[in-house]
Amino acid sequence: MAGLIHHEKEKIINTKQLFSYRCPSCNFRGATDLLAVGHYFSLNWIPFWSNEVVINSVCGNCGYFVHQKELPAELKKEAESFKADNKAPLWMFSGMFVMGAIIVVILVFAFFNEKQSDTYLVNPKVGDKYEMKLTSNWILDNEYTIFILRDFTKDSATFDCNDRVVYKTSGLSSIDKPENYGQNIIKISRKDLEEEKEFNIVIIEREGD
Ligand SMILES: [Zn+2]
Repeated sequence: MAGLIHHEKEKIINTKQLFSYRCPSCNFRGATDLLAVGHYFSLNWIPFWSNEVVINSVCGNCGYFVHQKELPAELKKEAESFKADNKAPLWMFSGMFVMGAIIVVILVFAFFNEKQSDTYLVNPKVGDKYEMKLTSNWILDNEYTIFILRDFTKDSATFDCNDRVVYKTSGLSSIDKPENYGQNIIKISRKDLEEEKEFNIVIIEREGD
C-alpha cells in the first residue's frame, strides 16, 4: 500500500540472570544475562507482526554480547527453555488485530445491509431510497444516482429519479436534494428490478430504519 512506512524493530521482552555462568571474556561469574528479544514489523509505527524471539546473552560486567547463533554449547539448553517461555507479546501484533477487527466489522455491515435491502425489495414502501449503479463497464467510470420509490403495484415500481449522477457512492448524499427530483419518473417491472436487469441496486435505505 502506498504511503505506508515499514520498519523492522526489536525489543527486549525478558531477561534471565545466569548465576553460575562465567563470562568467557572477563571471567566474571554470575553477571551474564540471557536476553529474549522480540523482533517485529511495524507499519506507520504501529506494531503489526512479530516473526521471532531471539535469545542473546550479555555480560553486565564487561558488556560482552553473544548473538543466539554464537551462543556457547553450555548455554544452548538454557537458552532454548528460556525461548520456549518467552513468546512475542500480543502488542507486537496490534496492527494485525486492529485490521482483523475492521475487516470483520465491514463484513458484518455488508451482510446486514444486503439482507435488509433484499427485504425492502420484496416488501417495498413508498419513500424507499434506492442507491443505483447506472453503468458498469470497465471503460467508463461507474455512475451512481438515487431513485425514490413513489408508487408500486404487484408487478411494477414507479421511481422518481434524481437527475444528477456521481462517480462514487460516497458522493450520493451531496445530490440528495429536493430540487434534483421530479423531472424523471420511470416505471420498472418489479421482476426486472429484482433481477437487476436495467439497474444495479447498491443499497436500499428506508427512513426510520
Ligand atoms: Zn564479561
